[in-house]
Amino acid sequence: MNQPTLIAAPVKDLFYGGASAEYNAAITAAAARVTAFLENNKRPFSGIRPAALLAQFREVDFDTPLPDYESLFEEVDRLYIQHATAFHLPQYIAHLNCPVVIPALAAEVIISAINSSQDTYDQSAGGTFMERKLIDWTGQQIGYDDQCDGVFTAGGSQSNMMGLLLARDYYALTYLHHNIKLDGHPIEASRFRIFVSEKAHFSNQKNASLMGLGEQAVIKVATDERFRMDLGALEAAIQKERQLGNIPIAVIATAGTTDFGNVDPLAGIAGIAQRHQLWYHIDAAYGCGLLLTDKYRYLLDGIERADSVTIDYHKSFFQPISSSAFIVRNRLHLNIIRHHADYLNPKEQDYDALPAQINKSVTQSTRRFDALKLWFTLRLMGRQQLGAYTDTIIDTAEEAACLIEEQVDFQLLSHSDLGVLVFRYYPAKLNVSPCELNKKIKEQLFFSGEVLVASTKVDGKFYLKFTILNPLTTIEDIKEILNKIRSAI
Ligand SMILES: *Cc1c(COP(=O)(O)O)cnc(C)c1O
Repeated sequence: MNQPTLIAAPVKDLFYGGASAEYNAAITAAAARVTAFLENNKRPFSGIRPAALLAQFREVDFDTPLPDYESLFEEVDRLYIQHATAFHLPQYIAHLNCPVVIPALAAEVIISAINSSQDTYDQSAGGTFMERKLIDWTGQQIGYDDQCDGVFTAGGSQSNMMGLLLARDYYALTYLHHNIKLDGHPIEASRFRIFVSEKAHFSNQKNASLMGLGEQAVIKVATDERFRMDLGALEAAIQKERQLGNIPIAVIATAGTTDFGNVDPLAGIAGIAQRHQLWYHIDAAYGCGLLLTDKYRYLLDGIERADSVTIDYHKSFFQPISSSAFIVRNRLHLNIIRHHADYLNPKEQDYDALPAQINKSVTQSTRRFDALKLWFTLRLMGRQQLGAYTDTIIDTAEEAACLIEEQVDFQLLSHSDLGVLVFRYYPAKLNVSPCELNKKIKEQLFFSGEVLVASTKVDGKFYLKFTILNPLTTIEDIKEILNKIRSAI
């Protein structure tokens, strides 16, 4: 007998009350693929070349959906998972990608399915207070009092932009009585200057250009022998810009440079910023892990004197991407960027009674509940265990630095406060330039898939770079990697 035609087609693939069986099957199958990735991957990369990978994409036709999950997982495995970089292996020692903690992965399942949006209380009640409590906790780790505030962001570049935005708008409001949010740049804006070290992150330049100040506004200050901002050079650079008729408004220190993992002299810079009435932002995207260690916390002494801080939990708190925050010492400063929309966060609302995180966010309205990952992590592992990971990483990196220094055929450029080592292979007999040799080694290792190292240029010369961000990496792993570098070509 035919089914009565009045019955609508069964609802498929939508997350709703009748979908628990499909939901469970899909998530279980996805988890099985991840488990296989963990168990089968012995190398950090498959070594596939772009042309070979691209060729496989030609067959994919979005107008013809696949018949079932099985086929879908197979396709995604072939196109993506098999060639995904395995950040959890010690042989992945390239960029600032941490292995992630499992509690945060469990949180991800909840985050994406329940799909709260962190803009207003009516879109995320408990989530709003969880985020606020984590922000307050992060502020406490920095050493701020209960006047601090902040917001989760998509990453360090975005957090740095918020720092620069507040610095600029605060300067104009306080010293020029000009409201940039309402009236745009004052004529003085083309002379605003921001000081960073030569080794600061490139997002500072991008942010300055995005904000209409131009990259010219960013003054690069010389660094010392460990590539940290030189205090004398900062003082001189500020004087020089003043003499040129320019207007210093902010200094951005880096706690953990991307290239060397070293921390600028935070307390010394605080003194200079105070004397010159500059907004003081600290980019601790990488170095924030130091907040959690008792052994190395002293490296961040002075961070509590910053007006604002960038924290990347997805760099040094072992969180999945994205998880980041922008923290300010004085919550009132966030009022500078507040924008009211009648439908979302009307001006007349009492935000102590009905909070809205959107009041603190500049570039995101709908915003993921990333904070839940950190909640899971802290509640289960505690600050101590995360801090112990960071201690281990720093100790391994220092041991690795000494090891590289001892090798006659390697040159190390600097020790690291965290875990980045810049060096090159420089054997006695060379028939190509050391730059050429090291470039070739890096490429060879990458396409063999056995070891992934990064590289950088210092004074125009090419160097290899290790970023150690895995507490499971041992000095034996480092020895093996050095041997692979020696025998790469
Ligand atoms: C990674 C990094 C950034 C940028 O953070 P994203 O999360 O990648 O946007 C900024 N500053 C420093 C020092 C970094 O290492």
